[in-house]
Amino acid sequence: MKLNIQDTFNKELPADKILENSRRQVLDACFSYVTPKKTSNPKLIHVSEEMLAAIGISKEEAQTEAFLKVFTGNEVLENTHPYAMCYGGHQFGNWAGQLGDGRAINLTEVVHNNQRWALQLKGAGETPYSRTADGLAVLRSSIREYLCSEAMYHLGVSTTRALSLSLSGDEVLRDVMYNGNPAYEKGAIACRVSQSFIRFGNFQILAARKQHLILKQLTDYTIQHFYADITSEGKEKYLDFFTEVRNRTIDMIIHWQRVGFVHGVMNTDNMSILGQTIDYGPYGWLEGYDLGWTPNTTDAQFKRYRYGNQGYIGLWNLFQLANALYPLIEETEPLQEILNEYNTIYEEKYLAMKKSKLGLTASKKDDKELVGRLEETLQLSETDMTIFYRNLSNISSEDSFEVAFDKTKDAFYTPNEISDEIKTHWKDWFDRYLNRLQEESLSDLERKQQMDLINPKYVLRNYMAQLAIDKADKGDYSLIEEFYQLLKKPYDEQPKYQEWFAKRPEWARHKVGCSMLSCSS
Ligand code: AMP
Ligand code: MG
Repeated sequence: MKLNIQDTFNKELPADKILENSRRQVLDACFSYVTPKKTSNPKLIHVSEEMLAAIGISKEEAQTEAFLKVFTGNEVLENTHPYAMCYGGHQFGNWAGQLGDGRAINLTEVVHNNQRWALQLKGAGETPYSRTADGLAVLRSSIREYLCSEAMYHLGVSTTRALSLSLSGDEVLRDVMYNGNPAYEKGAIACRVSQSFIRFGNFQILAARKQHLILKQLTDYTIQHFYADITSEGKEKYLDFFTEVRNRTIDMIIHWQRVGFVHGVMNTDNMSILGQTIDYGPYGWLEGYDLGWTPNTTDAQFKRYRYGNQGYIGLWNLFQLANALYPLIEETEPLQEILNEYNTIYEEKYLAMKKSKLGLTASKKDDKELVGRLEETLQLSETDMTIFYRNLSNISSEDSFEVAFDKTKDAFYTPNEISDEIKTHWKDWFDRYLNRLQEESLSDLERKQQMDLINPKYVLRNYMAQLAIDKADKGDYSLIEEFYQLLKKPYDEQPKYQEWFAKRPEWARHKVGCSMLSCSS
């Protein structure tokens, strides 16, 4: 295996001088060197051929013992120096101090086809940032991250990627619902891949500790490598950087809203500075359209990270990043201005996204109302988001209300319970929509083609991930492969996978892992 190793993060930024792998506060550094833990019986479950190709490893090499050893942490590649990053963060709105890579270990960076990739193992053992936990990951959460990050990529959402998924051969103790019932689960290690895994929290911890010199180094490093379009100097450079991070963050969240993805733990340590979806934990996919839904049981009380609040949380998190960057700028006003523009940009992009889901191209003064009324109506009875939007493209502008409504009614979880009153709301909305379609320039077919590129047919429904997990627990990895293939083309009809274009089955409604997820992973 010959990778084109070109480390930068650990070469250009200050390292923790203490080499002992003990849990502690790490000062004056961006990272600590660590060695991944050896595992008792590593076994490769799945590799992403796309990511293999991206980093320059052949399919044959991926089947070798050498690949298995490196990507389960049992062997360290020559000329590389694995490390864990130091970061802090706001968890559920409160400053939590140092967090850091408690169970992620960065192996190295490679450059292939002019593209930089950082390779990171998740679940490869303790680091100075492991606090009270074990540095390990279980199969369940590793499958969820592995499948979902690839699915998101193919949906067109900015995200970290996944290279490989392996069993460690070790058992890991977890209390899934935090109710005093711990049990052993299979340990796993995923290798994930991104240009960089730097988070808002990497900047925050340095600002909190008033390590302004290192803060400047980290910011300059990030701009130089990942925001190369920024050419300004001095304070302007940092303001341009912040503006760009804001824009990327907005774009990412708008895509989440488009596909019905709820991250579940939008703490600032889980916000990538590149605007990528990162740290797939208790995330979930909307089934019934519900702005108030959160998959995360830890968040059940206040629902801070509910679907309809993700846009606002993006702003809240950027506010924390602004505080962290302040020492480099020393003026609040320009930072505040960038934050002040957030809502306007977000709302504009949100409306444009929603209109694209409806196949509308013209600009009319009642656009907002049309979109808003649909959101309200969708929530009157449980209505599957993915199926509703996907089926909407089958409507013709000539359809009557009855015909149009009939084409979408597979999306209703309890079609028999659609009361006359709810139906009146639907009639009102469809009449407006059908009228509007008459004024649009696209033909029915053209509109359908456009809409089907925006409204996915297949997403990683919560129960699907759970089915793949249940099978994998018994040693059958076939559903992982099936979903991996299916979700490569989420916008294609793929009739052979039709069974996955279906509402959540009733058994999954209140099942752990399907509708209830905890941070335990
Ligand atoms: P998360 O909620 O997954 O974003 O994690 C929050 C913090 O807890 C991060 O610093 C993680 O590295 C750390 N963490 C989560 N799980 C573990 C674990 N099993 N072992 C060590 N650290 C962990
Ligand atoms: Mg995290």
